[in-house]
Amino acid sequence: MSINIFFAAGPALWPDYREPLARACREAGLDVTVSDSAPDPSAVDYIVFAPGGVIEDFGPYANAKAVLNLWAGVEKIAPNPTLTQPLCRMVDPAMTEGMVEYVTGHVMRHHLGMDAHILGQDGIWRNDVMPPIARERRVTVLGLGELGAAAARMLAALRFQVSGWSRTQKDIPDVDCLSGEAGLAEALRRAEILVTLLPNTKATENILDAERLALMPEGAFIVNPGRGSLIDDEALLAALDAGRIAHATLDVFREEPLPPAHSYWAHPRVTVTPHIAAETRPASASRVVAENIRRGEAREPFLHLVDRTQGY
Ligand code: NAP
Repeated sequence: MSINIFFAAGPALWPDYREPLARACREAGLDVTVSDSAPDPSAVDYIVFAPGGVIEDFGPYANAKAVLNLWAGVEKIAPNPTLTQPLCRMVDPAMTEGMVEYVTGHVMRHHLGMDAHILGQDGIWRNDVMPPIARERRVTVLGLGELGAAAARMLAALRFQVSGWSRTQKDIPDVDCLSGEAGLAEALRRAEILVTLLPNTKATENILDAERLALMPEGAFIVNPGRGSLIDDEALLAALDAGRIAHATLDVFREEPLPPAHSYWAHPRVTVTPHIAAETRPASASRVVAENIRRGEAREPFLHLVDRTQGY
């Protein structure tokens, strides 16, 4: 009997995934039926989901062996009390590539001071500056998971002095890995450029508050493609107004889309990008989903299982 996959990630994504998902399952040697509807919830074997998807109550899908999320962040689904099935988040190699490119591009912009040349095309030949080099610049990455570790590795390959911070201690070549409260303070003190790639959990809410922002070097830069909840917005705006933080490049916000009247839009020291740092790609993400279904059928451990107690 074929395996029943319910694509519950919403009608907007269905056209993008319909073919790639069926193909990836075939290539994984799975006999599946993939549908965007489930007239009999008790017959569903796997649920493919995304925030804004079509299930609120997972109770009727009690026979489903796993819920496979298409997003890396799971803050909108992990707290759902009706979800008792194993929850896997998305680790998509193409999404990781995209995030590494976003982080590298925005770090390089701030490191090289590109704006001075891009915005200052006024006929004045300003060559009295020593161009910076990466090995003289200290960059900190908060969060050393799939995305943070990949970004930290790339920055280290460019020869930045990279520090990283995570909940559990990591060991990444050419990255000075820190953990714990004291490790966070040290990581922030070093952060001439700070990249935040932590998930949205109770423990990371407002992790960059006024006190912690004050630990960063004068004139530091922030690049946040993690989650809006990591930053105390009022504290950041105050630090930007004072010039203590030179610029913040923000991809994620507490409210998305960021309301047109929000102070971030008009702030001269803020760059808003509309949650485009890294996107899940249907072809590669479908292969990840198919591999997890193969594992479920073979009774092997799922990849990228969410720890519901930690919230990520
Ligand atoms: P991940 O693999 O789960 O990594 C999360 C990292 O954060 C881990 O290193 C983890 O520490 C650390 N961490 C979590 N809670 C912590 C705490 N309380 N204190 C210190 N460190 C903590 O996640 P990921 O795949 O790298 O993704 C990270 C986040 O990026 C996602 O949750 C999502 O919010 C965001 N994201 C944004 C976009 C975008 O387009 N803007 C796209 C994808 C993802 P341990 O290693 O010790 O567990």
